Amino acid sequence: AKRLGGNQWRRYSPDMRSATVEQLHLENSLRKAIFRDEFIVHYQPKLSLASQRIVGMEALVRWQHPTLGLLHPGKFIPLAEETGLISVITERVLSQATTQLKAWTDAGLGKLHVAVNIPPQQLHKGNLLQLLEQALDDSGLSAKQLEIELTETSLMDDPDLAISLFKQIRRMGVSIALDDFGTGYSSLSHLRRFPLDILKIDQSFIRDVGTQNEDGAIVRAIITMAHELGMKVVAEGVETREHYHFLEQERCDIVQGYLISRPVTAEAMELLLREQALA
Ligand code: C2E
Ligand code: CA
Ligand code: CA
Ligand code: CA
Repeated sequence: AKRLGGNQWRRYSPDMRSATVEQLHLENSLRKAIFRDEFIVHYQPKLSLASQRIVGMEALVRWQHPTLGLLHPGKFIPLAEETGLISVITERVLSQATTQLKAWTDAGLGKLHVAVNIPPQQLHKGNLLQLLEQALDDSGLSAKQLEIELTETSLMDDPDLAISLFKQIRRMGVSIALDDFGTGYSSLSHLRRFPLDILKIDQSFIRDVGTQNEDGAIVRAIITMAHELGMKVVAEGVETREHYHFLEQERCDIVQGYLISRPVTAEAMELLLREQALA
């Protein structure tokens, strides 16, 4: 980035100036954070509606910033994507999440799965398969316990690339989930083309279900069609008993949201799993 001389700042509004300075500052500290390994993974449980047990979890990255405290992905993922630093973060999250789940599996806490978010850029980098293989090799986790979450953008940028890559990933035994479903442009009929295992309904559709609202009809239709296409359905943003009961009645497979638990530290997640193992 270009350094500007003293008066040149005057051309910018104070807001713009501080935004630019903050951006540069953040980019620098993001590089340092990678170097210092300041990223940690929190986990949010996923509950099966049939068994009412935790069957897996989503890995959600946080940045333990030395002065700003715990930063959520909204604060740094967009910049990490812009600067290409995202692939190192993906690698770290994959490594932490698979190692952690392997330890929990060995401790007898159940054969659960962990889902890791994969940004769209990672598909075009051409090394996603190797990344996954590496994480599984290093951790010793079974491929069946690993899931990746991708958004519709990843599919639609280059559908043929996505399809061939997904086939190879599934052949490894790793499952593929379509994240934030309903927020992009693809239609359900499009989805037939892609080898997908799981459909995650975006939380914006869940918000008003259970009250008298057409979102209920949409969610019902998504669940039915996903099942007919052979996919399991996860509902995100399940916050209330109304949400839960509606989804249970509509035969949604898995729920995730604040009603079950917020994303928590590995220590807190382990406590939840130990409680469940005793029950
Ligand atoms: P996402 O993949 O859609 O993850 C779900 C987000 O919804 C999480 O926010 C989670 O804390 C939040 N959430 C869960 N349950 C509820 C609920 O009941 N109500 C509401 N209102 N929100 C709920 P978080 O952790 O801030 O992550 C935001 C986004 O950042 C994620 O959205 C994902 O796109 C991205 N992200 C998170 N971790 C990673 C990562 O390791 N790599 C990449 N590339 N992106 C990540
Ligand atoms: Ca996700
Ligand atoms: Ca999501
Ligand atoms: Ca989202």
